[in-house]
Amino acid sequence: MKKHKQLKWIVISFLVASGLIIFNIFEVHSADIIQNKECYETLLQADEWYQQGNIEEATPLYRQCKPHFNREEKTITDIPEPVYEIEELEGGERFWNQALEGLENENQKSKAFVYLQLMTSRYPEFIPAHIKLAEFCKKEAEFCENSAKQEQPKTASEVISRVSQLYPSDPDLLKTRIELLAEEGKFLEASIAARQFSIINDDYPEAEEFGQLADDYLGQFEGKIQGELISQTVFTTLLSGGSAFLRDDPYQAISGLQMIGLMLQGESSLGETAISAFVNDKRARNQLVEDEEVINYIKGIAGKMTPYMGRDFDYEYYVVKDPNINAFALPGGKIVVNSGAIIAANSESEIAGLLGHEISHAVLSHGFLKVAKANFLNSSGQVVGSVQELQQGVPFITRMSTLINLAYSREAETQADILGTRVLASAGYAADGLRDFMAILQEEYGDESTSYLSTHPAPVDRVSYLEKLVVDNGYDPYRYMGIKRHQEIKERLRNF
Ligand SMILES: [Zn+2]
Repeated sequence: MKKHKQLKWIVISFLVASGLIIFNIFEVHSADIIQNKECYETLLQADEWYQQGNIEEATPLYRQCKPHFNREEKTITDIPEPVYEIEELEGGERFWNQALEGLENENQKSKAFVYLQLMTSRYPEFIPAHIKLAEFCKKEAEFCENSAKQEQPKTASEVISRVSQLYPSDPDLLKTRIELLAEEGKFLEASIAARQFSIINDDYPEAEEFGQLADDYLGQFEGKIQGELISQTVFTTLLSGGSAFLRDDPYQAISGLQMIGLMLQGESSLGETAISAFVNDKRARNQLVEDEEVINYIKGIAGKMTPYMGRDFDYEYYVVKDPNINAFALPGGKIVVNSGAIIAANSESEIAGLLGHEISHAVLSHGFLKVAKANFLNSSGQVVGSVQELQQGVPFITRMSTLINLAYSREAETQADILGTRVLASAGYAADGLRDFMAILQEEYGDESTSYLSTHPAPVDRVSYLEKLVVDNGYDPYRYMGIKRHQEIKERLRNF
């Protein structure tokens, strides 16, 4: 927790120092548009035409009512485009040359270090400086650690994770990070980062190679844990129990070792056990929405997006009776949405945005990494914790709620926004669906904590970031919104 706070400060001071803090002045809410009677009728007509395939007629109607993202008029400083060639960077060439000179000369370590740190904080968009600094800190670990000022990154991985907050899908940074992780023996994280590369950058020629690399690293991670467990002579007792009992009775105690055993069965298997236990518990309390029309609505929306996700899972969807605006994903593509989230949304495209974001968390293995870290494993596949802790039984449902409530990193959130918005657009929905959903959250709760906000970063700068994603990628916000059907589903839900 403390480390997380520290990192947050590093990021914030980094953003402030680089002039990248984003301010959001004007916010447009889909609720305002839909409450305007004239617009409501117009959008209904647009949706109808869109569904009939009459896109030419539908588009001007959407344009008529939906706001344009007037990004120029906003007083925001966006994260600048990444730069790879020093000639394309305005200013900075002099510092860069100094840094390179320092790097070439064995006894000018300080010069290299100082100028590389200067380059990375003053020109965060210049990717090669971060990579050079990471390489330097890998080679000169002790020097780097001792020379870094308090607010500066001290290790190669700190260098890369700092800049990855700004450019989470940059191929050069991802490659450097994967290499670093593998060299440090952090095979699970290396595997997940390689998978993320292959999914987020699926149009790159290296995508397939990285998919393969992801499998290889995962194998190495599992091999390492098994080796560890065998050395602790607990391996045989561990897997002999199976996991069926947990599905039927989520209150059954499960030891840390059994939890590791579950993880070794893989993401899909872990997700299936976890979701069965969760659903059985909710059903027993009569907190599960069993209405077929509602469930099919959610399945139908998600089903339009999963073909673009780049990963085949046995996707499952559940709706829970809960007024909080919340949704989460368990490993292996098991998605849970609260009725409160559906009721808060104004359109099908907003729910599609939310689902796209959650499914992305599962596809990018964010949840699996969370489980591993929360349950006695470090990312090198070493079992951590005392024998006593490892053997202590804790109700499965308790271990699971820890998993659900643990916040994702800011970087994981950004990745899920990137992939989520991309699949939203690919599926033919209005590409600002997730953006609009976040704007609702912001208006509803502001900075107040809600369960969704507690597991996700504040939506304040997210709305702006999501707009940028839509605009920069040329995704179309003037597409199917699905307002009528969504209102019908909301009405049904209000009766439960
Ligand atoms: Zn999220």
